[in-house]
Amino acid sequence: AKKAGRDQIRFFDFEMQEQADKRTELEAGIRKGLDSQEFCLYYQSQHEADGSVLGYEALVRWVREGVVIPPSDFIPQAEQSGLIIPLGQWILKTACEQLAKWKELPDKQHLSIAVNISAVQFQDPKFAQQVISLLDQTQAPADRLELEITESMLISDLDKIIDILLLLKTRGIRFSLDDFGTGYSSLDRLTNLPLDQLKIDQRFVRNLDKHSRDAAVVKTIIDLGRNLGLSVIAEGVETDNQRERLLELGCYQFQGYLFAKPALLPE
Ligand code: C2E
Ligand code: CA
Ligand code: CA
Ligand code: CA
Repeated sequence: AKKAGRDQIRFFDFEMQEQADKRTELEAGIRKGLDSQEFCLYYQSQHEADGSVLGYEALVRWVREGVVIPPSDFIPQAEQSGLIIPLGQWILKTACEQLAKWKELPDKQHLSIAVNISAVQFQDPKFAQQVISLLDQTQAPADRLELEITESMLISDLDKIIDILLLLKTRGIRFSLDDFGTGYSSLDRLTNLPLDQLKIDQRFVRNLDKHSRDAAVVKTIIDLGRNLGLSVIAEGVETDNQRERLLELGCYQFQGYLFAKPALLPE
């Protein structure tokens, strides 16, 4: 029994070692991917009730030897290793460069880009200053840039978070609360934040036509947004039925496969 125990321990170590190796490998891959420009941004359109395009959400992809890797396969490791800081910088810079290009085009200058910000990135003390530098560097119109934050990054000092939001908002940047309703932050904390938009999570949209419980949640989010003076957008809208239900409930902005899948922008 003693021997088996020792073997088990050895086996455990081996597994842990293997996992650690995989992590290091992935980390090295991300590092190299950043150097060799293997990352790209897909864009998914956001629509008004009449179907017109308001803007896009930027969604990162990693193209490795022709294979498109989704963010769920590398963002967690990028966060754990801290590589999300340079990767996130690249994402922001690329989105700002796109906005700067659109600024010159009369039929495109109204479009906004929403960029996902990870908690690790947001907690970096240099974050706000780096965003401001990027705006200056790229000459992007700040009022077309939207940053998507999540409830999970609202756990630390609320006053500090509010300061960062306000600093960036004086430049014209807007803030959207992504995946709203899936976290654990108290309403009190949320209502104190200087936000511009609530984003209804796709898990509530998914069952909208069948389950009245989800409809009740969606209705509550929409009413909360309206009472706080925020715009409300629903993500993961896949069917006409869902769009109709959302309209009935008072949500007039949409994003989802019903309209378009994330894709590269046409050149
Ligand atoms: P998210 O921010 O909630 O993004 C929405 C996800 O839903 C995207 O997955 C999008 O492709 C997908 N989606 C859009 N419409 C539909 C639909 O109608 N039905 C369904 N089933 N799905 C839809 P994606 O691109 O794989 O991104 C997954 C997550 O990875 C994002 O969730 C976000 O948390 C993270 N992520 C993506 N890009 C970035 C980025 O540039 N930076 C950071 N920090 N995180 C990112
Ligand atoms: Ca928006
Ligand atoms: Ca998002
Ligand atoms: Ca989301």
